[in-house]
Amino acid sequence: MQNRRKKVRRIKMIRRILIVGLPVILIGGMGYFSLKDLASTNESAASGHFYNNSSYKDGDSEYDKDDDGKTKGDSSVAAQEEEITNNDDVVLDTTPDSLTVLVNKELRLPSDYIPADLVIPDVNFSISYYDEKKLMRKSAAQALKELFDAAADNGLDLCGVSAYRSYERQYEIFTNNVKTQGMGHTVKYSAIPGYSEHQTGLAIDISTKSANYRIDDSFADTDEYKWLKDNAHLYGFVIRYPEDKTSITGYSFEPWHIRYVGKALAKFLYENDMCLEEYYKFEPTEDYSQCINYDNLEDYGINPDDVKVPTKAPTKVPTPTPTETPTPSEEPSVTPTPSVTPTKKPGKDKPTVTVTPTPTEEVTQTPEVTPTEEITPTPDVTDGASDSGDGTSGANAQTP
Ligand SMILES: [Zn+2]
Repeated sequence: MQNRRKKVRRIKMIRRILIVGLPVILIGGMGYFSLKDLASTNESAASGHFYNNSSYKDGDSEYDKDDDGKTKGDSSVAAQEEEITNNDDVVLDTTPDSLTVLVNKELRLPSDYIPADLVIPDVNFSISYYDEKKLMRKSAAQALKELFDAAADNGLDLCGVSAYRSYERQYEIFTNNVKTQGMGHTVKYSAIPGYSEHQTGLAIDISTKSANYRIDDSFADTDEYKWLKDNAHLYGFVIRYPEDKTSITGYSFEPWHIRYVGKALAKFLYENDMCLEEYYKFEPTEDYSQCINYDNLEDYGINPDDVKVPTKAPTKVPTPTPTETPTPSEEPSVTPTPSVTPTKKPGKDKPTVTVTPTPTEEVTQTPEVTPTEEITPTPDVTDGASDSGDGTSGANAQTP
């Protein structure tokens, strides 16, 4: 009898365990896998969600495509460590994934080229939110951190403004500019998609607080630039468009645009006062800006429909100018705003008492937000509206 009871009890126990335990295991398991999914989507979000640009394939790119693209960049990092003593037998490097690739007004990247190892460098940026333009290839991102840290050790403040730019983004910028500004203006100030070095993920436009985070000539006058000019190569970067090389690079002086090429090559270029074109003995055959026109858009991978001006009256966007004005985020200008709020409320009564405490609160609040967010529009505007091959501000982008 007793044995039987025990047996029954045991069966009941097992049943209870199954009833309670199974759902726990199932729910737990589901939770685990959904967390795993979440983690992997987060991982790919940084490099994945912008780049779906197979629709702009040009098919006749000059580049040999790389099937195992991911590892190629890394392997050339090791090769970079060997000192470069001359460029006698150098072969023009047009492999998109190579850290020493040459991209210029005559050498374009495939429209579907997206670096496989894009990450956000651990440095200060002029914007606080996530944006594609914060991305750089891994080795360039690490070197950038070293560069910025070294600058900081010297009491200097460098700040990232615009790094990676996808083909799609450049396509948007270019076609929008053609629509709103016309072809002549656009080819002067805006790179044709595929020809921007920013698509390599190895270039970045940088600035500093004293230049108001702008990417224009004023950066050349800062202490930061003076230091950068003679130290960037120690970290693998070069000033890509120097003042005295404009006829070879095809770009006007861009003190803010630096390009990662690895330490060995950067050192060689610096010590021999060469730009990348000279190193590869690349001779420009034509003034690229004169080549593209409304009749040959398709040769450059541009769909003519995308630059068709709508029949409506031209809607010139006056936004840039108003946006710039708020940038000097001065506290005094803020004060009027709070005084409005109290006036509204007490309308009938005496407003005097309420006014005093409110402003203090409101004022403290605003500046906190201002520095990061107010700055943003400025580079954004420069970047999008008038971007030469690289990230130029319209004012000085006059190419030779
Ligand atoms: Zn640039």
